[in-house]
Amino acid sequence: MKKTAPIAKNDYIDVMFEDLTHDGAGVAKIDGYPVFVPNALPGEKGQVKITKVNKGYGFGRLMELYEKSDYRIDVPTEEAHKFGGCQLQHISYEGQLAYKEKQVREVLARIGKLEDVKVHPILGMDNPWKYRNKAQVPVGEKDGKLIAGFFKPRSHEIVDTNESVIQLPEVNEAIQTVKEICTELEIPAYHEESHKGVLRHIMARYGQQTGELMVVLVTRTADLPQKHQLVEEITVRLPKVKSIIHNINSKRTNVIMGEKTKVLWGSEVIYDYIGDVKFAISALSFYQVNPVQTKVLYDKALEYAGLTGEESVIDAYCGIGTISLFLAQKAKKVFGVEIVPEAIEDAKRNAELNDIRNAEFAAGAAETVIPEWYKAGNNADVLVVDPPRKGCDEALLNTIIEMKPKKVVYVSCNPATLARDLRILEDGGYRTIEVQPVDMFPMTTHVEVVTVLELKKSN
Ligand code: SAH
Repeated sequence: MKKTAPIAKNDYIDVMFEDLTHDGAGVAKIDGYPVFVPNALPGEKGQVKITKVNKGYGFGRLMELYEKSDYRIDVPTEEAHKFGGCQLQHISYEGQLAYKEKQVREVLARIGKLEDVKVHPILGMDNPWKYRNKAQVPVGEKDGKLIAGFFKPRSHEIVDTNESVIQLPEVNEAIQTVKEICTELEIPAYHEESHKGVLRHIMARYGQQTGELMVVLVTRTADLPQKHQLVEEITVRLPKVKSIIHNINSKRTNVIMGEKTKVLWGSEVIYDYIGDVKFAISALSFYQVNPVQTKVLYDKALEYAGLTGEESVIDAYCGIGTISLFLAQKAKKVFGVEIVPEAIEDAKRNAELNDIRNAEFAAGAAETVIPEWYKAGNNADVLVVDPPRKGCDEALLNTIIEMKPKKVVYVSCNPATLARDLRILEDGGYRTIEVQPVDMFPMTTHVEVVTVLELKKSN
């Protein structure tokens, strides 16, 4: 990489794009100096205006496209692909899948030094549109009118739209209807800058298997004006609604939900199924946003775990127990561990709901709790991890290497940290057997991967 940039800000340059970054921007190299350009695809040629020049890399804007990629498709509206994180909407679904699969292979080779590992073709969706079961939109005011939609990328300006190509129609409809009702009832919108006003966010979540809808209104104030009419209108106009929740978030913060929730109408939770397992989902619970692909992912994790009914399994980073309860159907015993205590409460409740008695849950950091279990003689035959983007804590990986479970199933939402952790496990006596990418989030740059490792024979 060159030290001095061969280009300057505001230069217009003709380039050929060679690659895509992990966040979906095109990469062109000018005398070896990489320039990142949104909305450009590998194989394309075009004119770029340089917008920023850093020491080792720069940024540009695509001004004109001379040659198009076969993977490029027309986007319904100019801005649409930027909204709601749909960074890949301008790439055909076939192209998106190819890009994600390639990214997984390359990262495993580059960071994990796993050039020869078996990476299966990515499992995509038959219909990659309208899959998200949840939306939460910021509410604001423009010219005295209530608006709601998406923040413009890297800004706090709200775009008033209900156009989302990835949300379920029930979710879009719920958001649109609640927005209209709040406008009619003249409920004041929240103003971020002055920290005044009332309504901050509208959230809708839909249980696709049960047809149950939850609506959450997030306000700055403890009081929600026109509460009774609001409930009345929502129940009349959205017959699928089973739960209307008021969440209070009085802080100056980017975090959407506050700690306090009240049931305005109906139930505190809605239900949904993944496979045969039923889940109670409260307003604050984490729940997978694409249940169709979650089933695909969990089925793969279960297959990789290779359970016969005799195994003791640890599920680290278990959330509300989704994977644990799936595994419990085939294992002798499952121990789930998760850092958020409320999620553990949900996990226990979900076990009861399904009459699953061979799953136990503990609240705490996986890297603290699992070494304690190990010291106390609680060893697992199979260990499953599903960590957040930063991957597994090194202390946990070291405990796995000492504990020597026969199999490790690693579910990852970030191929880079997966590759780093696989290398540590490989050096500690494990072999990566298979890697299965799954497309949980079509139209976005995110890719999910499930991997199985086995203890090498000599260990
Ligand atoms: N397996 C679950 C959740 C995966 S998301 C599912 O599929 O639904 C990752 C989870 O790890 C989150 O619930 C997060 O709260 C939890 N987490 C983050 N850091 C942790 C840590 N150090 N120890 C245990 N859990 C942690």
